[in-house]
Amino acid sequence: MTTILVTGGDGYIGSHCTIALMNEGYDVVVFDNHSTGFKSTGEALKDVKSEGRLLDNIEGDLLHPEDIDGAFREHHIDAVIHFAAFSQVAESMSDPGKYYMNNVAGTMGLLDSMRRNDVRRIVFSSTAATYGEPKYVPIDESHPQWPINPYGRTKLDIEYMMDDYDRAYGIKSVRLRYFNVAGADSEGRVGECHDPETHLIPNILKSTFRDGIEFKMFGTDYNTRDGTCVRDYVNVEDLADAHILALRYLENGGKTDYFNLGTNEGSTVKEVFAACEKVTGMRIPIKIEGRRPGDPATLVADNKKAREILGWEPKRSLEDSIRTAYAWERKKRGLTSSP
Ligand code: UDP
Repeated sequence: MTTILVTGGDGYIGSHCTIALMNEGYDVVVFDNHSTGFKSTGEALKDVKSEGRLLDNIEGDLLHPEDIDGAFREHHIDAVIHFAAFSQVAESMSDPGKYYMNNVAGTMGLLDSMRRNDVRRIVFSSTAATYGEPKYVPIDESHPQWPINPYGRTKLDIEYMMDDYDRAYGIKSVRLRYFNVAGADSEGRVGECHDPETHLIPNILKSTFRDGIEFKMFGTDYNTRDGTCVRDYVNVEDLADAHILALRYLENGGKTDYFNLGTNEGSTVKEVFAACEKVTGMRIPIKIEGRRPGDPATLVADNKKAREILGWEPKRSLEDSIRTAYAWERKKRGLTSSP
């Protein structure tokens, strides 16, 4: 049985990936410091009917070598999938030290522990934020990487670090550059739990629950088809599938590489809002606000490379993502019956 260490396995994307790994027959060791995120993946996953097992759920910190070395000592780990990171752009601007320490120094701690413990394969969650303000769309992997905030810069620093650790120590990596991740587990076991929540779809859906609190739409004067920002929303279960394919690629001797994960399709904020009204069957209260600082008008992925080399194919639609996200928001509030 192959065992995968998943750092940040209790977070939004990490918990979905843990389920996908178990469904594919991998054993999983979750390593998480529980500073943010779901905190109870172990509980949520106890009913997963799969060949793979959740072997351990370790509370530990990548900045503490004894924690991460302990995880490698206790389990025979074949490869790592690394999600653990802080990911809020605004916070990264007001407190960059927190981001460089946790994201960059934390990853260095992980890679050094992998060297010490002879683990040579890692899949890393990078981001479209490493590209910065787009020079052209759709964005392919050769687009310049000029991130415009500390969050994006920490992820780019890690990408460079991974190249250096391959050259010097033979650690092979796949960096997956996510566009806008959306949706929840289709069986309702895990979902998005950010605090504060800044993402579009959960924020629209939140406004279906609280009378009088409007959804705030940031900016309607962009140079796009309806004046609102265009983003490429990729379903979280499709994203989890890509991590499995990346792992297999490395298992088959693939070289260090990087791939965009998006759908090649953009949706405007107004289109997402309309789709949320359709899925929920509700009129959602809305307030038009000014632009949110730092939002580029359009971000859409060119995902050809992931299709060709990893064999990845996003299968779920924006409506699928909204439907599962809505079911999850209802479940969080104890509303388990269908709407
Ligand atoms: N957005 C919005 N209201 C919100 C949250 C987001 O209008 O409450 C807009 C935001 O300005 C951007 C798009 O939705 O144009 C996607 O934002 P999100 O934070 O989900 O992802 P980002 O693209 O910033 O990573």
